[in-house]
Amino acid sequence: MISVKSSYDAIVIGAGPAGSTTAALLAEKGHDVLIVEKEKFPRYHVGESLMPFCYYPLKRLGLVDKLQRSDNPKKYCVQFVRPCGTVSQPFYFFQHMDHPSSTTWQVWRSEFDQLLLDKARKEGATVFEETKARALLKEGDQVVGVRVVSKEFGPLELNASIVIDASGRDCFSAVKEKWMERDPELKKIAIWTYFRAAKRDPGLDEGATTVAYLPNKGWFWYIPLSGDVVSVGIVAEHEYLFNGSTKDLAEIFQREVKNNAWIEEHLAPGEQYGEYRVTGEFSYRNRFCAMDGLVLAGDALGFLDPVFSSGVFLALKSGVILGDAVSDALQAGDVSSQQFEEYGKSMQSSIEVMRKIVYAFYDENFSFKELVMKDMRLRGDLTDCLIGNVEDKDFTELFTAISDLADLPAPIEHGLAKGSS
Ligand SMILES: Cc1cc2nc3c(=O)[nH]c(=O)nc-3n(C[C@H](O)[C@H](O)[C@H](O)COP(=O)(O)OP(=O)(O)OC[C@H]3O[C@@H](n4cnc5c(N)ncnc54)[C@H](O)[C@@H]3O)c2cc1C
Repeated sequence: MISVKSSYDAIVIGAGPAGSTTAALLAEKGHDVLIVEKEKFPRYHVGESLMPFCYYPLKRLGLVDKLQRSDNPKKYCVQFVRPCGTVSQPFYFFQHMDHPSSTTWQVWRSEFDQLLLDKARKEGATVFEETKARALLKEGDQVVGVRVVSKEFGPLELNASIVIDASGRDCFSAVKEKWMERDPELKKIAIWTYFRAAKRDPGLDEGATTVAYLPNKGWFWYIPLSGDVVSVGIVAEHEYLFNGSTKDLAEIFQREVKNNAWIEEHLAPGEQYGEYRVTGEFSYRNRFCAMDGLVLAGDALGFLDPVFSSGVFLALKSGVILGDAVSDALQAGDVSSQQFEEYGKSMQSSIEVMRKIVYAFYDENFSFKELVMKDMRLRGDLTDCLIGNVEDKDFTELFTAISDLADLPAPIEHGLAKGSS
């Protein structure tokens, strides 16, 4: 039976990839960790295509073998498809790096996130499901805990030396602290659903992520999942998707399917099932990653357009860094925001690399083919971005070449620890 304590070393809000990873690593190091999660797991979540460099956090968590034994489709590459249906030469990750990390998976997030949460539990973290964080508890400017409402225990005030906010796109703390900042140019939304028995490409490409362009700066994702299901979604501007005579998600989706010959052909033998889902404008980076007693992880810190499937990777990465950084802070008895300066800088630099590639992708003057034809050596740097190998790498040459073809954004300076420069 789970009992409620008056105080914990760390409370983690949210049991997605960022929260469960942080909690698992903290618990493994012997800290007393509580996860509060508003849903009952397993729960649905969008975001099924992993990036190859998820391998390293998953290895650290000891979960690679389980994924290798799973029936999740193996993702060896990403491919791009023009509206007319022409397919690019796929970016096979193993051609770039001959290492197990070059193969990744397309996962049902209900199962994948459950795997991570089970790991956190196994390491000793306490988990309160169906428990929603409602307010940060503060003493002066220092966060000292969380007020929650739990299905099992009712309203509770829970104290902790540090709170890790991994509440995803709900951005629990950033909303409370008014830290939310939208990315000015990436005003996209998504509409998506699932198909059974749709067409899969043969051989190595069976588990590929396909990014299929629409003629208006939008695109489809096509992600094959286990159980002969495919996740298919459109990302485009709200004004474009809703500018016609209908607001009906199914009708909008079907209208757009006709705008990409590859998508139309692949969906033709399939059967759509379940609801059509929609999400609001998505790219943002919150003003700070930490204040005294509080640090933000994963989407609760920032979110980038999903075109390169970077979300879960960045969430796992933030969880791994925080597993160490929070432990060090607890041991030092100093949970001030300064303890998370390096974390903020590391996340900022990875997100900025990905963000530039995302901006290039949406620039109508840019094409990956033209870039690579300009200088074949750039294909390596580009593939590094697509697999998540962005830590401590110098991409000057790549971005100089891209800036000849596309307008790249000025860096967003925020997202660092409060008080850090
Ligand atoms: C349309 C779309 C497509 C995407 N496609 C991909 C993709 O293909 N590949 C990829 O890598 N990423 C993708 N992403 C991004 C990916 O889904 C996220 O980056 C990833 O889930 C972030 O993990 P997280 O742990 O930060 O947050 P989440 O996975 O969102 O987990 C947050 C958890 O916090 C809980 N929570 C929220 N508020 C509270 C509260 N107040 N109290 C308690 N619990 C709370 C939630 O229930 C949830 O379980 C996509 C995102 C979108 C919107």
